[in-house]
Amino acid sequence: MTLGIGVIGAGAIGRDHARRIENALAGGKVVAVNDIDGAASVRAIEELGLKATNYPSAEELTAADEVDAVLVTSSAATHEAFVLQAIAAGKPVFCEKPLAPSIEGARRIVDAEMAAGRRLVQLGFMRRFDPGYRALKQVVERELGPPLMVHAAHRNAASGPGFSTPMAIHETAIHEIDVLRWLLNQDYVSAQVIFPRSSRNAPKGTADPQIVLLETTGGVRIDIEIFVNCTYGYDIQCEVVGEEGLARLPGPEAVTLRKKARLSQPIPTDWMERFIAAYDVELQFFLDNARAGSVSGPSSWDGYVAAVVAEACVEAQGEPGRIVPISLPARPPLYD
Ligand code: NAP
Repeated sequence: MTLGIGVIGAGAIGRDHARRIENALAGGKVVAVNDIDGAASVRAIEELGLKATNYPSAEELTAADEVDAVLVTSSAATHEAFVLQAIAAGKPVFCEKPLAPSIEGARRIVDAEMAAGRRLVQLGFMRRFDPGYRALKQVVERELGPPLMVHAAHRNAASGPGFSTPMAIHETAIHEIDVLRWLLNQDYVSAQVIFPRSSRNAPKGTADPQIVLLETTGGVRIDIEIFVNCTYGYDIQCEVVGEEGLARLPGPEAVTLRKKARLSQPIPTDWMERFIAAYDVELQFFLDNARAGSVSGPSSWDGYVAAVVAEACVEAQGEPGRIVPISLPARPPLYD
């Protein structure tokens, strides 16, 4: 059976996911598109050559009989409403991060899913599907002995328009917050943020770079450098130090070039290029599970935890150096 997919939000990642469902993945077909700007939706349908209907509202798209599963790729502030509609309709929903911009919004989704009694939501934390992070996790679990420290860096060449200091947490560090929790299989107990001198390339009035310090339930200390105007490329680093060794995230495969007395290797310029394989794997995973009637992978609970931790980090930004405690309620059995 081919799943009829409805895409809400025909922006950058919505169009990219629609393209991969049509051209690279198996088991799904984009049959419906909605965007708050109807013209953008029509443009996406035409440009991607989709045999899909442009729906005037997200609500009508989700309710349509031809839509078996929903992709929420609209702006972050709209995710909660659209995910709740999909849960109410009993349809599997893949939601791009963040699950919701607020802790309360994320909790409402968890509560709605628990009331439905089954997992319906997969969240777009795609790094869990990246071959490099998966290989690193195997090494951490089998070779390294108990982890002690993690050193991570998330660098973008330049921040996008409207960048603000808290966005470095909500839009950028959020990926490390999730993937390191998954990598170590531990929750966080505290957050702290410190600011080096800001780069002259940072937008006026914003702090860049920042260093986020997290401590886990198992006493692992994590430092994450967030530097979104590093100028040289999109660079993701992760090094785990354990009792019996050190493991480093492999970079994307790239040819090394020896030329004119220099040894060089290209660096990706954006996230789309760096994590292209991970996006394919996460969405194929969603299609396979939705077809089998059992959604799995990064969950609403993971989205809720990420929202709680991100909020603690933003609070910590307000008083550099202060340690902000993080406490989480017990994980509901639905998410074990
Ligand atoms: P984008 O290019 O701005 O696309 C979002 C689209 O949603 C825009 O076309 C926007 O229209 C539309 N939209 C806004 N409100 C809507 C509503 N009420 N109903 C229907 N459509 C609505 O943004 P993007 O870069 O694709 O990001 C979208 C989401 O994906 C964000 O939450 C972002 O954080 C996430 N994302 C995740 C990753 C990842 O690595 N996992 C990467 C990129 C993005 P207007 O432009 O007219 O407002």
